[in-house]
Amino acid sequence: MTELISKLETKKWNQVVQKMHQLAHRIDIFCSAILFQGKRRINYFFNKRAVHHSITKRSGNCLRCGRCCHASIKCQHLEYDENGLSLCKVYDQKPILCSLYPYNETDYFDHLRDTCGYKYEEGSL
Ligand code: SF4
Ligand code: SF4
Repeated sequence: MTELISKLETKKWNQVVQKMHQLAHRIDIFCSAILFQGKRRINYFFNKRAVHHSITKRSGNCLRCGRCCHASIKCQHLEYDENGLSLCKVYDQKPILCSLYPYNETDYFDHLRDTCGYKYEEGSL
């Protein structure tokens, strides 16, 4: 009986630890996404020409996963169609930095780099 209680307690404790890990991971993603958004705004402000040049090397297509639109906080203009594809409610007037994501090979949210449909050749900066 004591052994069973001890096993259950260990299981519960492991679940708590796992939840804490998941929470820490989410907080980490949220904070790095906020920092990244600030960084790309500043970079765009000071390097507009370079950004508009580098984006000409972008290949691939947007897969409309919508992940970049809620990398930190979900954008109020983000919706999904009946097929689960993202829709921007202000598509024609969306902010320039939305259209320019990702604008070079370093301009990816860390956790979205591999899943984004847009690609850059390595060393294309
Ligand atoms: S993460 Fe990439 S593929 Fe997904 S919506 Fe954004 S630009 Fe498109
Ligand atoms: S304005 Fe549109 S493209 Fe930009 S983050 Fe919001 S939903 Fe995405």
